[in-house]
Amino acid sequence: MSTAHSQIISAIPDAFERGKASGDLLFFPSEIHTHSDGGIDFQIRLCPALLQKPTLPTPHFNQTSNDKLDPFKAPYNPNLYVGELKDDEEGVEYVVLLNKFSVVSNHILLITKEFQSQSSPLHPGDLVQAYLVLRAARKTGKPMFAFYNCGDRSGASQAHKHIQFIPVDEDEDGPPIELLSKAARIEKEALPFSLVPLPFANHVRRLSIPSKAPHLELESALSNAFLQLLDLCISTVRHDPEYPPGTPSYNVILTLEHLYIFPRRQEIHKLRETGDLLSVNALGFAGLMLVKSPEELEAVKKEGPLNILKGVGVTSVHDLQVAGGPEFDGEAELAH
Ligand code: AMP
Repeated sequence: MSTAHSQIISAIPDAFERGKASGDLLFFPSEIHTHSDGGIDFQIRLCPALLQKPTLPTPHFNQTSNDKLDPFKAPYNPNLYVGELKDDEEGVEYVVLLNKFSVVSNHILLITKEFQSQSSPLHPGDLVQAYLVLRAARKTGKPMFAFYNCGDRSGASQAHKHIQFIPVDEDEDGPPIELLSKAARIEKEALPFSLVPLPFANHVRRLSIPSKAPHLELESALSNAFLQLLDLCISTVRHDPEYPPGTPSYNVILTLEHLYIFPRRQEIHKLRETGDLLSVNALGFAGLMLVKSPEELEAVKKEGPLNILKGVGVTSVHDLQVAGGPEFDGEAELAH
């Protein structure tokens, strides 16, 4: 167990209290409403205070930094600072900051110190460091999961590469979607699978990583899984004749047991009932949604979270991917 990662986890609660007390961290209280849809117990957070949060237009994620608009560049605000990590294999350095606008307590961001684009895929060092944070979190009895919103249409709001972490209940050990993946019966663990009841493309890999796996084994397990899922994500969007040109957008979820990629066609869903615009990111696919008013809450329940996710996701071509063929040979399997 790496001391650096454990130190990050133990530093979070005090840093969070300090951030709030200083006024630099804005905490928006909310209440959770559970709503079941398609076997997932969605947690819909009603957070009226968010109506007051400044909404910034989603930037176009250039490959280069724009220092003036980058809140994640040094010097770091000491009231949001948690610590630093370095991936020795890749030589990449990271800073861990608290989310300045928090709806969930102890929400942290793992940010590359050197600018990298939020449109770029996760690199081996990113995956390893994120996984080690999750491992340390579980070890200390404060489990978390990680997510990454990649690209213009993924629901991300900052262009500088950041992976996010939020705590989950101790007895749950993952976000709501994780229960579905844990229950999935798959024949070959080394192959990606799809949660077939979901009405949109989803690519999942089970991670059977021994808890004492050395760095290189961890790096190769995570990178291979990520590349398999990314391949499938790209083959999925290539089958959508209307998918916008350019780099595909997608959401990533990482738990200690599973890695997920959800291809994204658009960022915003317009609610049928109210016409309100709902920005959806990886959290929606994890089973956690956010609404700003009781009317919006009712509209989400009525329309159904899965329909909303279908609206911003991409049609699944999993059957074709399982059937194989020159393009899909042996890439995926069905989960029962
Ligand atoms: P995303 O919107 O998924 O790109 O995540 C970026 C997160 O960074 C959001 O949840 C913001 O609340 C948070 N954020 C924005 N500005 C800052 C800042 N100056 N320091 C820390 N977190 C920030």
